[in-house]
Amino acid sequence: MGNCIFCSIIKGDIPASKVYENEHVMAFLDISQVTKGHTLVIPKAHQENIYELTPETASQLFSAVPDIANAIKKEFKPIGLNVLNNNGEHAGQSVFHYHMHLIPRYGEGDGFG
Ligand code: 5GP
Ligand code: ZN
Repeated sequence: MGNCIFCSIIKGDIPASKVYENEHVMAFLDISQVTKGHTLVIPKAHQENIYELTPETASQLFSAVPDIANAIKKEFKPIGLNVLNNNGEHAGQSVFHYHMHLIPRYGEGDGFG
């Protein structure tokens, strides 16, 4: 899709630290880590936000999330994990290719919330 930065990451044109990949879904470390292991989960299909997400894509995406969460838990050993998603610029969305944030939590003073 045009000049979408996440489509470029899927294509391999922009490097990213990959956490997980299957036919439909990719997960990689956020370039700006709010906590250690902050990961973005995206569908390979370019869909802008939750309003555009098809049920099929939503299903493929969420089906992968438990494995990704467990990979993060194993690698970074957080004591909790927040899952969040911003839709629309007024809600804080800055990249208009749907993505979920997986934010590992380490207790008080971990820098988030
Ligand atoms: P949003 O604000 O849309 O919910 O989240 C977009 C996220 O994408 C931000 O947390 C930002 O740090 C991350 N991001 C933007 N550009 C890149 C990039 O080129 N590579 C990676 N890995 N993350 C990016
Ligand atoms: Zn895209």
